[in-house]
Formats: sequence, structure tokens, C-alpha cells
Amino acid sequence: MTQLPDAKGFFGDHGGQFLPPEIIAVMDELNAAFKRYKDDPAFIAEFEYYQRHYTGRPSPVYLCENLTKSMGGAKIYLKREDLNHLGAHKVNNTLGQILLAKRMGKKKIIAETGAGQHGVATAATAALMGMACTIVMGAEDIERQKLNVFRMRMMGATVIPAMSGQRTLKEAVDEALGLWLQDAQNTFYLLGSAVGPHPYPAMVKHFQSVIGREAKAQIMELEHRLPDYLVACVGGGSNAIGLFADFLGDEAVKLHGVEPSGRGLTPGDHAATLTLGTPGVLHGFKSYMLQDENGEAAQVYSISAGLDYPSVGPEHSYLKDIGRAEYFTASDSDAVQAFFVLSRTEGIIPALESAHALAHAMKLASTLDKDKIILVNLSGRGDKDVAQIEQMLSDGLIQAPA
Ligand SMILES: *Cc1c(COP(=O)(O)O)cnc(C)c1O
Repeated sequence: MTQLPDAKGFFGDHGGQFLPPEIIAVMDELNAAFKRYKDDPAFIAEFEYYQRHYTGRPSPVYLCENLTKSMGGAKIYLKREDLNHLGAHKVNNTLGQILLAKRMGKKKIIAETGAGQHGVATAATAALMGMACTIVMGAEDIERQKLNVFRMRMMGATVIPAMSGQRTLKEAVDEALGLWLQDAQNTFYLLGSAVGPHPYPAMVKHFQSVIGREAKAQIMELEHRLPDYLVACVGGGSNAIGLFADFLGDEAVKLHGVEPSGRGLTPGDHAATLTLGTPGVLHGFKSYMLQDENGEAAQVYSISAGLDYPSVGPEHSYLKDIGRAEYFTASDSDAVQAFFVLSRTEGIIPALESAHALAHAMKLASTLDKDKIILVNLSGRGDKDVAQIEQMLSDGLIQAPA
């Protein structure tokens, strides 16, 4: 495969930098620093040190024998990103970016967050590195995610409410960008997924690619061959691209991304961007996007707040275009079902985001022979979701299996 993104940050037709000139200059500075340090032995050593001793890497791969048996087909393995410190894959990226910020001499960190998972991971790693941290969050989301807001504050972050528009993630991004530009000299913008203008998609992929690199070696050791399928949920696309990265050249390994079809594929009820979107520009990059007739980001919805973004990482759009990866959907109820099944069969409570990947993998496994291997990225643990599930059960919106 040729080296992507190209010099302008494009993966085929997607990616790039759709930004005012003053921000492009800051992106150039970031890109130069990333290029300089990503292969620097001292930087790599420091990154690996914290991954091992702070995050707890490597995370294991685990064969779900009970789940495999009950599906009656292919073997289902999990890559256990849920076992990382803070309970998800997000810390891989915040650690990498914060170490880069330190090398660049930045003193302050700014980030936006939707459900708060990226805000918590950013606040934690900022505390670790002794950096001032500001998290911008929609006022509506602050109300809905009180526990995560409290976690961020416990770790010393300042949480600022975004009060404009719908007062959720999109407004938080807009306001965080504005705050950042007031002092871009001293402030590092820590982006939470493989989205945004170049070089963020490439950089986030780089820091998350540890997932697939470890998983490949672990599966080779256990099975002495590559898996047949990789499955990961796709919000912005960081855990999926982190899993896929090391396998892109292994054409025999099929790559499946899973998007949320929410309550159904009617506008406003889902966030199935690659499935139903069209090319458009949002937040400084071009990609498939759910948009209205004026090119504005459409309303999106998913039961899992970590998946409801109206665009998607540009490399996924490229992988879709060239046919290297395929994208599927799982609904709210598919995800809730998979949430219960994994909890009951394996004693592992998955994040609702990850449960989307799991739902697809379970369906897929039952159609395949027993000698096939599926590796699912369990991007996070479900502790953060149990209160929501409990509420839905007591409201009679869902039913636990007998
Ligand atoms: C944030 C989050 C996601 C979605 O983000 P990606 O960038 O698409 O990986 C998925 N799973 C968990 C557990 C998350 O916290």
C-alpha cells in the first residue's frame, strides 16, 4: 500500500485541512512535531513506559469459549481494551498526544467531549503530566453525564459548558476551537478520535495502532495464523482504525466496522454515517457525513453516546471507497441484547459502544464454520452504562433475558 495520507492529509478523496489560514499554520506546527517525534527513540520509550505501567498494556486477547459455543460457529476472540486504566481504548491516544504536547512545550491542554469519556481520559493524563486542563462540554451533556463531569473535576480539570445551539458535542467543538485560538501558542488541542483536520486522523491512528499490533502477535501465538475477520464499532473510528492498522496489508483478513442504526434508519434516529452519509466537510475535514440539504450536520442519535457523531474518520471513508473494509450497522436493541449476552456467558460487561461490534460478530459467527476466527475489539467496559441499563429496565423499555 502507498503511504497515506498524502502530503495534504488526504486518504483518497477524504481528509485534508478545510480551515482558515491562521489555523493551518498551527496544524503545520503540530504535524512537524508529530513527524519529528513519532519515530524518536526517547519519545517511543516514554510512550511505551506509560502504556505498560500506567495503562496496564498489553491488554490480553481472550477466547470466548462459552459465547462461541452458544453461537455455534466461528471462534470469537476479544481484544480486551476494557481492561485498560480508565476502562477503554481512549487513554492510548490521550497519553500519546499529551507526551507530544509536552515535547512541544505546551503548558495547557484543551479538549471537547460528548459523553465525557474522552474528557475523563484527557483530564487523567493531564493530571499525570502536571498540565492545566480545560474540557468543553455541551451544557446538555453536562446535565446528562454528571458522574463523568465530577471525575474530570476530581482530577483537576476545569469543565466549561457550551451554551449555544443544541448544547451538545457539536457546540462543544465550536467553542473549544474558539478558546484554543485565543492562546494556541501555549495550548495543545487534544482531539479524541481519528477525525478532524490533518494530521489528527493520522496521529490518532498512530497512537491507537498498538491495539492491532499487540492483537496480531497475540493471535499468532495462540492460533499460529491470522484471524479471518476483525470487528470494531465505529463512532469517530479510532478504536477501529487502531485495530485495523496493522492488518491493512493482510488482504485475507476481512475488516468490518459497525455503526449504530439506533432506533432505525430514518433521519435523526441513527448515526450510520458510512452506511447512509454523503461526502461533506465538517470540523475541518472531508469525509462521509450525515447532512441536511444545506450541508449542515444532521441530527444523530444512538443509545451509546460515544457513537453519535455525524461524520467519521476520513480513512474509514477511504477504506470503504476502495472496498478494503466493509461497514455494517447494529441497532440499539441489537447492542442491548449483546450487552446482556456477553455479561451472562462470559462475565464481562461491555460498553454499549463495544456491544454494537459484538452484536455484529455474534451474527457473523453463527454463519461461519467452526475453524474460522473472529477478533472483536472490546473497546471499553460497561460500568459507565449500567445505570442507564437499569433505568431502561425499570422504565420497561427493555427486558433482561430470562
Ligand atoms: C469513545 C468510545 C468509542 C467510540 O470512539 P471511536 O473513536 O469510534 O473508537 C467506542 N467505544 C468506547 C468504549 C468509547 O469510549
